[in-house]
Amino acid sequence: MNIYQAIEDIITYAEIHLYADYLDHEYFRNAVFNLLNLHVDGEYSHSDEDAIASLDVPDSVANPIVDYAIEQGVVEDIDRELFKTALMGIFTPRPSEITATFDCLPTEEATRYLYDMGIKSDYIKLTSIKKNKYWVYPTSKCDLEITINLSKPEKDNREIARLRTAPQSGYPKCMLCKENINYQGRVGFPARQTLRYVPITLNGENFYMQYSPYLYFDEHCIIFSEEHSPMTMNRATFERLVDFTRIFPSYIAGSNACIPIVGGSILSHEHYQGGGHLMPVHYTQAECEYSHPLYSDVKVYKQDWFNTDIRLVSDDPAKLVDLAEYIFNAWQGYSDESVGVIAKTSDIHNAITPIARRIGDSYTLDLLLRNNRTDERYPDGIFHAHPEYHNIKKEGIGLIEAMGLFILPGRLDKELALVKQYLKGERVDVDYTLEDNVLYKHKDMVDELLSRYPLPLSEEEADKVVKDYVGEVCKNILDNTAVFKGDEAGKIAFDKFMSSMGFSKV
Ligand SMILES: [Zn+2]
Repeated sequence: MNIYQAIEDIITYAEIHLYADYLDHEYFRNAVFNLLNLHVDGEYSHSDEDAIASLDVPDSVANPIVDYAIEQGVVEDIDRELFKTALMGIFTPRPSEITATFDCLPTEEATRYLYDMGIKSDYIKLTSIKKNKYWVYPTSKCDLEITINLSKPEKDNREIARLRTAPQSGYPKCMLCKENINYQGRVGFPARQTLRYVPITLNGENFYMQYSPYLYFDEHCIIFSEEHSPMTMNRATFERLVDFTRIFPSYIAGSNACIPIVGGSILSHEHYQGGGHLMPVHYTQAECEYSHPLYSDVKVYKQDWFNTDIRLVSDDPAKLVDLAEYIFNAWQGYSDESVGVIAKTSDIHNAITPIARRIGDSYTLDLLLRNNRTDERYPDGIFHAHPEYHNIKKEGIGLIEAMGLFILPGRLDKELALVKQYLKGERVDVDYTLEDNVLYKHKDMVDELLSRYPLPLSEEEADKVVKDYVGEVCKNILDNTAVFKGDEAGKIAFDKFMSSMGFSKV
């Protein structure tokens, strides 16, 4: 491999894909020299521009340079990602240039520009993300979407060891702080030289929008506050979400509840998630309609969804927000012990997962009612995935799952492959009936599947059986999260809650 050719190629890539100017050619060349600690020039020829123009991601121009750096001892193999990000950061336009371009483009072109920049700079790790497993599971209500997340690399033992001895830095305060931009990263904290976000004003307040490097769905973006301050939910939350869909009409925007179990993984920094992908919940039908004498400008529906979804629709965003705030406040104090809903013990348990979306000129807000109470029988949460489903998903059911898109842990990929081996009648090295075994947590599932089907199954049959099983579990988990279940008792209790707020059925 000729390193000088590799450097020429990556600069050509930047000129084609990252808006680099040819006047900066030598500037970039020396920037890569600096990174590699190179002090001698060498021979190279003109890059194959057509081949480089056809690239979707920078891997084939960046990886040879990273490999060279590792071979030469410039960087340790374990720091491969940090080095690659530093390399690509050289070519990623400055934040001010990105914002200037973003601001002068029409909305959909602007988001496309920022998104493409994320992929071409390798900030969005598309190559890893493409390794994720994805399938849909049809249900009577709509198709659920299921992914097994294989794009977050598993930490190797050397990294775990380094983490143990790494000094606590406290900077940036969290992964959502604006100080992450151009941060070099460290053990256990990603490099962010390729991160770019743009400032946006939501409801008169300063926020920023960036894409998610993990991309759980199409154009998955994060909207975060200027200050590192904890998640809250109040009228302003609804105002900001609706305002976001006013600015970006083709995007949805939702917020996690700000309490554990039903909330997201980061509660320390105010943020929302959005993107250009409609979720399963958006394809649901209205089960019934309600009206309220004081909010006649807003249509109110109970959606036919697994967990409890009140959908508000109005052409008037202010009136929509008024009603969302009214329902949120009512729900926070509402208890109905007949269905196990208790608003408050020593903590507040009732919460809402709101999602905003535009349909034509209308604004909609889906309010998913949540509760995070635990008891002796369900120490992980009464309205959380029940223990019999923890082999598939034990983590909190946040915004994305509550909308019907399941992000399942990467470990499942290997485990489900072993389950498939059993179904295909193959010899399996691990015995799922033994307690110290990686498959033991799936014992009930394997027993059930083995008894349900005549063995051996073909590869396709085994694959479908396992995917359907996981899909059914995801559906059941959503049922678990429903505060008002789909049965008669749940429907009556929901009506009672609506009546308590002054709604009547249309
Ligand atoms: Zn922060």
